[in-house]
Order: sequence, then structure tokens, then C-alpha cells
Amino acid sequence: MERIYIGMGSNLADPAEQLRSAVEALAQLPQTALVGVSAFYQSDSLLPGQPRYTNAVAALDSTLAPLALLDALQSIENGQGRERLERWGPRTLDLDILLFGDRLIDEPRLTVPHYHMQERAFVLYPMAELAPADLCLADGRTLAELLKACPFVGLERLPPT
Ligand code: ATP
Ligand code: MG
Ligand code: MG
Repeated sequence: MERIYIGMGSNLADPAEQLRSAVEALAQLPQTALVGVSAFYQSDSLLPGQPRYTNAVAALDSTLAPLALLDALQSIENGQGRERLERWGPRTLDLDILLFGDRLIDEPRLTVPHYHMQERAFVLYPMAELAPADLCLADGRTLAELLKACPFVGLERLPPT
């Protein structure tokens, strides 16, 4: 059993509803328990000219293998109408594996910890609601240190609905 953190994002077709559906789908995964879900946040798109994103992080405990989990996440994305037209284009649903226990994975289809999570406010702030502050990321820095270096900019925590 390993603790896994999933970053979720949507900026099309009722993003908050997309995330709620994704959480339900995560809760149905085999060999997996949904441990927690952060509040929803809104963030500016990394690329200009896109609608704002709604983001959240989910924590899972699972005995699935990493690539089996990636397959399952991609089928949830596809089931919610994800189309891959352009890199970093607007999307109904993005599910990224942020951390998988303390594994370092470097495979063609899967890099864990998720690259760039260290500097993404829309990942770190929701994750901090679920993960211990002394959680160590791959580069040896703790979540608390990363948060200190990552300003809460362009981000808005949404009230629970
Ligand atoms: P970013 O990676 O910058 O957040 P993105 O999430 O929009 O961009 P996608 O189009 O969702 O990128 O994924 C592109 C590919 O990334 C996927 O086909 C998948 O194989 C690969 N990938 C590598 N590492 C991961 C990971 N940790 N979680 C999810 N996908 C990953
Ligand atoms: Mg992503
Ligand atoms: Mg992705």
C-alpha cells in the first residue's frame, strides 16, 4: 500500500463538476482507497488566452502498479471527454500523478515526482491541505520549504460547495 497524490485540473465544460466527477471515479478505482481531497482552487492558465483552471489534489492509498494507475487515470480523462489537440491546451480533465509513495520513476510514459510540481502553486497549496509539511520531495526539499519559495499568486481558494 502506497500513498499517492494526484493533481487534478480542468478549464472546460464546468470545471468544478469535472473535478467532482473525477473524485467519484478515483473513489471507484480497484485496489485503491480515496484518502482525501483538497479544497478546489482557481488558477491562471500557464499559457495566456485560456480560461482559468480549477485545480485540486487528491490523496489515495493503493496497491496498483504505477503504470496501471496511469492507465486508469487516462481512461478517466478520456471518459470525461479529454481531447489532446495541442500540448497544454485547454482540457476537460487532467489527472497527473504527483507522488507515488517515495518512488522515483523515470519511464517514457511516467515521470514521478511529476516534473515542475515543485514550483506550481496550484499543486503545492492544495497538496499542503493533505500532506505533512515535512514530506520530502525528490530533491530533498520539504513541502514546507517549497511552499515558502512559491508565492500564492494567481490562485484563489474556492469556498466549499
Ligand atoms: P504537464 O505534464 O505539464 O502537467 P499535461 O498534464 O497537460 O502537462 P498530458 O497531456 O496530460 O500533459 O500528459 C502527457 C503525457 O505525460 C502523458 O501521456 C503521460 O504518459 C505523461 N506523463 C509523464 N509523467 C506523468 C505523470 N507523473 N502523471 C501523468 N502523466 C505523466
Ligand atoms: Mg498536467
Ligand atoms: Mg497530464
